[in-house]
Amino acid sequence: MGNNDILVAKFGGSSLANAEQMRKVKAIIEMDDRRKFVVPSAPGKRFGKDHKITDLLYAVKKQALDGEKIDDTFTEIRSRFVEMRDALKLDLNIEKHLDIVEHDILNGASLDYTASRGEYLNGLILAAFLGYEFVDAADVIFFDGKGRLDLSKTESMMSGRLKHTEHAVIPGFYGLAADGEVKTFSRGGSDITGAIVARAVSALVYENWTDVSGFMMADPRIVKNPKTIERVTYRELRELSYMGASVLHEDAVFPVAEVHIPINIKNTNDPSHPGTMIVSKVGDENAGVITGIAGKRNFTVIAIEKNKMNAEIGFGRKVLEALEQNDVSFEHMPSGIDTLSLVIADECIDGKLKKVKDDIYRVCKPDVIEEFSNMALVAVVGRGMRHQVGTAARLFHALSEAKINVRMIDQGSSEINIIVGVENDDFDSAVIAIYNEFN
Ligand code: ASP
Repeated sequence: MGNNDILVAKFGGSSLANAEQMRKVKAIIEMDDRRKFVVPSAPGKRFGKDHKITDLLYAVKKQALDGEKIDDTFTEIRSRFVEMRDALKLDLNIEKHLDIVEHDILNGASLDYTASRGEYLNGLILAAFLGYEFVDAADVIFFDGKGRLDLSKTESMMSGRLKHTEHAVIPGFYGLAADGEVKTFSRGGSDITGAIVARAVSALVYENWTDVSGFMMADPRIVKNPKTIERVTYRELRELSYMGASVLHEDAVFPVAEVHIPINIKNTNDPSHPGTMIVSKVGDENAGVITGIAGKRNFTVIAIEKNKMNAEIGFGRKVLEALEQNDVSFEHMPSGIDTLSLVIADECIDGKLKKVKDDIYRVCKPDVIEEFSNMALVAVVGRGMRHQVGTAARLFHALSEAKINVRMIDQGSSEINIIVGVENDDFDSAVIAIYNEFN
């Protein structure tokens, strides 16, 4: 059960890109005194062609490794932090910290340490600005000898450290490796830090503040002004994210999902918008028929036909073995009595298609193998589908009205998604037709 007194607020890079954004963040924190623990990313882009601090840090490290001068790039980093400190009129000697970072980089500091300094320095600035304590993530987040997050050690150290702390800023993206060196998560990993902090303090809600008002029901580049998803379950989110909808790092979900802390995606530039709530369970009676639509282009389908396939023991295994031996993973495997199709992302099968087909021929002796390229998959996701008669009928009617040829259908056994294969060229129209049908 969550602690009613605590909200953990993680702010992404664009929410902290300059002093103006920092002021918005402070106003948000001050709006609700339950926002006791704050997790910042490094400063992001202020405008389209601007650089993210993390990218600059990776660039600096590369320059140092290549024996090039780092001065110009480091000056760009330095001035971003100094400008922010000055604009916010903070009594903070950020130059001292920048000097240490520069010195460390010039003396062979690791890539992870270098990359993590964006969050570290930004955390110092934000803590000074909010008047919150600064807690270094390297003191409270730990990785094991294999480089994986050591959640139990982290949880006990973090909760021990924060138990008697009224307010704190904990920088995102990094922790301490088993060898005592700083180690980062993968890119976008401040989301994970936020989730870990929320779990350690049993927060009521993990707020993830970004520059969009949550998840949209469909990609706004395809559907004009799609509705925001108000509530989505962790399972639905996984289906949607896997098929291309991305706002949150995928590893940020499990630390909070396991303990049923909801995640609220909110917009720093529009704080009164409720955003999207990601929850473990919702009463299905509240669900719309569909929650969201996502999809991806560029798949190839290998369709295998063999008379009496249904009775041939081991047929499926042999097909999958052929994939395994070629190091190819598949996305879906719809099957009929005498047919079995493999849906494979082009990036996995590029350069290997002929060999895979030859191997299947050799081992499985099918009657026919056909391939269809330029396929797209559209995933229609909704926990409400289980209880609604006629959803599939509406879906396929909408597609046929839009004159879209459906090449494949796959429904997950959980009944929270239907996946439709269409040609790449029909992808956008398919998403629009489905969205319009259900809205
Ligand atoms: N600053 C890091 C990145 O750009 C981590 C994060 O923002 O979450 O990937």
